[in-house]
Amino acid sequence: MLYFFMSKDSYRAALFLDRDGVIIKDHGYVGKISDVDIIEEIIPTLQWITAQNIPIVVLTNQSGVARGYYSLAECDLVHQHITKLLEKRDISIKQWFICPHHATAGVGELKVDCQCRKPHAGMALLAQEELQINFSKSLMIGDKKSDILEIKELKTVLLQGHYSLDNIPSNVTLTTHKKLLPLLQRFF
Ligand SMILES: [Mg+2]
Ligand SMILES: [Zn+2]
Repeated sequence: MLYFFMSKDSYRAALFLDRDGVIIKDHGYVGKISDVDIIEEIIPTLQWITAQNIPIVVLTNQSGVARGYYSLAECDLVHQHITKLLEKRDISIKQWFICPHHATAGVGELKVDCQCRKPHAGMALLAQEELQINFSKSLMIGDKKSDILEIKELKTVLLQGHYSLDNIPSNVTLTTHKKLLPLLQRFF
């Protein structure tokens, strides 16, 4: 008998990104292409990550879908648009994961206390299996406390912007878009 066993040690590094406030400006519930504003300062960082062949995986809470502000299909169109804009800048987004749920807002089956809404680990766990990602070799970049995922071995970097980042755990790194690239170059 021949067994092929792939241990998680052979899984690869990835860069996990939040969407709003990290890749595009956080205008609040962006569900239309015309509302997409790429944050220019993230471009050199994502170009470098792409050049290193490190997959970029976006994990985004989109309760605007649960709230009925836009559909999941409209959200997908926005993500296809962002992917194309970034491709023109030599940046490759490997995959998008969306949580369309909310525990208390919205109606129907999307009003649910799900396991994918950040800080829950659901979206990252799906990505781990589908793309064979090793969390301890990877980083999550966000701009909100809820971007600190419930995954001990995954390190988090938070970009200072719109949200209060008081009382952040000491293992979380705070930085800005402009200082992100050297930080990632030391990590990866
Ligand atoms: Mg955000
Ligand atoms: Zn969810």
